[in-house]
Amino acid sequence: MLEVEHLAVSYGPLPALHDVNFNVDEGQIVAVLGTNGAGKSTTLKTLVGLMRPNAGSIRYRGEPIGGVATYDLLRRGIALVPEGRRVFAHSTVQENLELGAISRTSNAEIQQSFERIYALFPRLKDRRTQLAGSLSGGEQQMLAIGRAMASKPALLLLDEPSMGLAPIFVNQIFELLVELNEQGTTILVVEQNANLALEIADRAYVLDGGRTVLSGSADEIMNNEAVTAAYLGA
Ligand code: ATP
Repeated sequence: MLEVEHLAVSYGPLPALHDVNFNVDEGQIVAVLGTNGAGKSTTLKTLVGLMRPNAGSIRYRGEPIGGVATYDLLRRGIALVPEGRRVFAHSTVQENLELGAISRTSNAEIQQSFERIYALFPRLKDRRTQLAGSLSGGEQQMLAIGRAMASKPALLLLDEPSMGLAPIFVNQIFELLVELNEQGTTILVVEQNANLALEIADRAYVLDGGRTVLSGSADEIMNNEAVTAAYLGA
């Protein structure tokens, strides 16, 4: 579904990614792991068209998408839950979901999606008319995921969904990811919390210094002590 080969990206003159490689098959949960500054967020930003690759290729369903605009990618089924749950703080919960659905045209289907999201997140339903900025951290993360779901993505990308959340919310969010995956959404999740991500992932890739340095099944990566010690700070 997604093939990334020899991806290189820089911030102006500063190189961030040198040689990133990974594949995501339809139906999988794939984890991208690595310590601070390894290049995880930059990889996701590039996948959703917020950064332009200098070199390498990104193919989605067989077509090159490197440099394609974010909105186009959203229409084609790629949605990002950004790091730090960037919801629209001055809009209501419902308005945030509506913004998530902006690339869709069928009103009936959009309403169905909202119902599904509210069924998954009853707390958001209770707070649908409240400003997103007034929600707790965990609720904002749910809203950020709900907003991405409102675009009905085939491929959902998440940047550090566990960051800054109490363990109870983290568990709920990861259970939800498994549920979404079982319902047909392919998931690429970037995490510093490697153990958590490996528990739900099929495959994993480790980034270090802007390069993919390791790949394998989640079990292989989890059980490789040298790997976890060297790259994952375990
Ligand atoms: P983190 O978990 O801290 O977000 P990460 O693995 O997501 O780490 P990136 O944020 O992708 O890593 O950073 C990769 C490299 O790019 C790092 O060397 C970082 O300093 C650099 N970088 C990230 N954002 C910028 C920016 N806006 N301008 C310049 N360099 C940046």
